[in-house]
Amino acid sequence: MPQHEHVLNALRDIAGAPYVLTSAPDCAPFLTDWRGNYTGNALAIALPANTEEVAAIVALANQTRTPIVPQGGNTGLVGGGIPDASGEAIVVSLKRMQRIRAVDRENSVMIVDAGVILQNVQQAADEHDLFFPLSLAAEGSCTIGGNLSCSASKRSYPMAKSGMA
Ligand SMILES: Cc1cc2nc3c(=O)[nH]c(=O)nc-3n(C[C@H](O)[C@H](O)[C@H](O)COP(=O)(O)OP(=O)(O)OC[C@H]3O[C@@H](n4cnc5c(N)ncnc54)[C@H](O)[C@@H]3O)c2cc1C
Repeated sequence: MPQHEHVLNALRDIAGAPYVLTSAPDCAPFLTDWRGNYTGNALAIALPANTEEVAAIVALANQTRTPIVPQGGNTGLVGGGIPDASGEAIVVSLKRMQRIRAVDRENSVMIVDAGVILQNVQQAADEHDLFFPLSLAAEGSCTIGGNLSCSASKRSYPMAKSGMA
C-alpha cells in the first residue's frame, strides 16, 4: 500500500473517517490564513477529539516521517498554522477540543482543552468570579493553544512566562 494511503487509513482509524478531511472544498479553509497571505497544501486535515487522539496522530507522524502542522483558530498573522505547498503534511486542527475541564476558583487555575476559544475561557473565568486577563481582537476565534504557542500579546500579559500554563 502506498505510504499516503497507509497514513490516511491510520488517521481514519484514530479520529474517525468524518474527522479526516481530504477533499479540496473541505480542506480549503484550513490551507489559507485569514488575510490570504499564505496558502499551502496538505495530505489531510485531521480533527482529533481528545489528547489520546492527538498523541496517536503524533506517534503515526513520527513512525511515517509525516510532517504535522498544528492549527487552532487560524487567526495567526505569520502563516505558522499553514502547511507548505508540498501536500505532504497533516494539519492537526484542535477545533473539536473545546472542553473546559475544571475551574479551581480557590487557586485561580483553569484546565481547558487546547482548542477552547479564548472568549470562552474568559467567560468561564467570569462565571466563577475570576478574571482571565488575556484579551485580543481575535478572541472570538483564536484558541488557547494558539495563544500559548505564539505567546500572544506577550507584551501586555506574558501568560506562559508568568506560570499560567
Ligand atoms: C484581528 C486580529 C487581532 C490580533 N491581535 C493580536 C494581538 O493583539 N496580539 C497577538 O499576539 N496576536 C494577535 N493576533 C494574532 C493571533 O490572533 C494570535 O497570534 C493568536 O494567538 C493565534 O491563535 P490561533 O488559535 O488562531 O492560532 P493559529 O493561527 O491557528 O496558529 C498560530 C500558531 O500556533 C500554532 N498552534 C496553534 N494551536 C496549537 C496547539 N494547540 N499546540 C501547538 N501549536 C499550536 C500553529 O501551528 C501556529 O504556528 C491577532 C489576529 C487577528 C486576526
